[in-house]
Amino acid sequence: MMIEEVQAKSILNPTGGFLATYTHSLNAYQGCAFGKNSCPYCYVRAMPVQRFSGKVWGEWVKAKVNAPELLRQELEKARRKGSFGSLRIFMSTATDPYQGVEARLKITRGLLEVFACSGAFGLLVVQTRSPLVERDLDLLTTLGSRVWVSLTIETNREEVRRQITPASPSIERRLATLERLTRAGVRTQAAISPVLPCDAEVFAGLIAPRANRAVLDTLLHGDGAGGRRSAELKMPELLRSLGYADWMREDAHLELLAALRRKMGDERVGFSQGGFNLL
Ligand code: SF4
Repeated sequence: MMIEEVQAKSILNPTGGFLATYTHSLNAYQGCAFGKNSCPYCYVRAMPVQRFSGKVWGEWVKAKVNAPELLRQELEKARRKGSFGSLRIFMSTATDPYQGVEARLKITRGLLEVFACSGAFGLLVVQTRSPLVERDLDLLTTLGSRVWVSLTIETNREEVRRQITPASPSIERRLATLERLTRAGVRTQAAISPVLPCDAEVFAGLIAPRANRAVLDTLLHGDGAGGRRSAELKMPELLRSLGYADWMREDAHLELLAALRRKMGDERVGFSQGGFNLL
């Protein structure tokens, strides 16, 4: 793993596309260590940030070590412009803010410290698959209703995780993280995105008592291109080779969606793009 510490020029980037309900994305890292042996469906590997890197996705990370200071300055600027209270920030869109190197560099923690001291901005969504997010429970509870933690869990089946996303933390570990955050009063979302082969009733039964809400997405609906990007990443071939061809069907997620809605209520379960629009 090649880790480079860099100085960024800016840290809040205006959003668009499926995150249009957010004002900015925030990526404290470029590259993602989970790309190595996890997330074969990750669309970031087809984006310019990876295509022009000249390296293998998952084998490099650039850490923006001045991110907290930049954030402080950019929040101050927003305050002067009068847009501070309406900031809706998604962290992160093209990396995982709690990938392994964060344990040492603590850049994401530094960002949360800035947010915690900055007053009443609109909303921050922390999107991760890593239990390391628990380390920052103190800051997350300080941020209260201004923050959601959205934790990716694609299946309840540990053998599926090992086959498709082997470098991801275990299902049990991620469920425990969700539970701890929720019990501590942090607003939590289980991001079942994309849905991988799973047992609908069992999975919904694990999520319902541990998360405030759930959002579900699929390889066909969630890639922003009607499944074309998932096809380019050879996800249909991968699922077929493992005996899961049926899980590429258009309706493969419906049983899980229905089970989640039964157990959690419609208002606590979102689907695809609109489902990521948190309040
Ligand atoms: S954690 Fe997110 S950004 Fe990182 S490889 Fe997986 S899907 Fe891509």
